[in-house]
Amino acid sequence: MANSIPMVDLHGQYLKIKADIDTALQQVIDSCAFIGGPAVNTFTCHLSDYLGGSRVTTCANGTDALQLALMALDLHPGDEVIVPAFTYVASAEVIALLGLTPVLVDVDPNTFNVSISAVAAAITPRTRAVIPVHLFGQSCDMEPLLKIATEHHLYVVEDNAQAIGAEYIFSDGYRAKTGTMGTIGCTSFFPSKNLGCYGDGGALCSSDEALSERIRMMANHGQRVKYHHDVIGCNSRLDAMQAAILDVKLRHLDEYNAARQSAAQYYTAALREVDGIRVPTVSSNTTHVFHQYTLRVLGGKRDALKAFLAERDIPSMIYYPLPLHHQEAFHNICRHGGDLSFSEQLAGEVLSLPMHTELTTDQQDRIIDAVRDFFKQ
Ligand SMILES: *Cc1c(COP(=O)(O)O)cnc(C)c1O
Repeated sequence: MANSIPMVDLHGQYLKIKADIDTALQQVIDSCAFIGGPAVNTFTCHLSDYLGGSRVTTCANGTDALQLALMALDLHPGDEVIVPAFTYVASAEVIALLGLTPVLVDVDPNTFNVSISAVAAAITPRTRAVIPVHLFGQSCDMEPLLKIATEHHLYVVEDNAQAIGAEYIFSDGYRAKTGTMGTIGCTSFFPSKNLGCYGDGGALCSSDEALSERIRMMANHGQRVKYHHDVIGCNSRLDAMQAAILDVKLRHLDEYNAARQSAAQYYTAALREVDGIRVPTVSSNTTHVFHQYTLRVLGGKRDALKAFLAERDIPSMIYYPLPLHHQEAFHNICRHGGDLSFSEQLAGEVLSLPMHTELTTDQQDRIIDAVRDFFKQ
């Protein structure tokens, strides 16, 4: 066990903050305020501060956050929502679930993020919103995207589940945190995310007061005043234990992201010259918080490399093996917004290496040696 390298190391991370986590959890138990209450309010305020003052609403998970965002906007069945074809299913699932039409567009093969020209080309008179996904921890190219959205009166719902703490740098030098640039930003606190709790959790943020009020109402059975229901909403809440854990971990988020960044730099320095792979590209106008460290393995060798690593007890993961337009569930309900060939190509090439806050250089050296050995065969 001592020698095995985990894909993520939540236990090692917990041990370093155990005293604070245990105290915070004991306080919630002693208070018996398990739903709502001080722990949730405190974390909500702290997250809002972290995100530069945007109003935050917590909810049950990241998928709910995306669903609540679309519920809070003025959308109608048949309205089109543009989303990348290469992403986690949740980004597009909520569109279909609400009777809206997902319009899948291609991604940039270097950043893995949505192609801005593909978004522009996919807009029709029915397009109402776009969901940029800050995939693997790097911001989408938001400045041109926001410009297009403004021109076409589109809502922008950022899927920030993988990139909390990352920044985008506008051409005038202004730096904005991912999740705070669109109409609404959504995030997930799934345990392995950059800011993860010990169960499920999620949040939305918006700088629009009225919209935030509507989001809160949607997450709370459509009520503003208890037992008075204005709209059909749902029940989606972050529980107090998770909020207490998140409040402790939020204090460490920048340090956690820095640890991921230095591990990524170490991988990249060692692997950039290896023929047959492409290391991740970091755009000059973004910071990358490396939720995943994802290689492109060229020449059809991805699965062989994965098997080779597994033989040496090194885990790796394929995020994501199928683009959305090849998912059974999406066959008849999505529209293709143009050519999706990069999404398809990436699904066959991507391989994510172990990436977490506790990764040691010894572990990384073993992983790096194995990758190099594979290409020396
Ligand atoms: C994790 C994730 C979600 C969903 O979050 P959950 O909390 O698991 O519901 C949505 N989008 C992306 C890109 C994700 O990585």
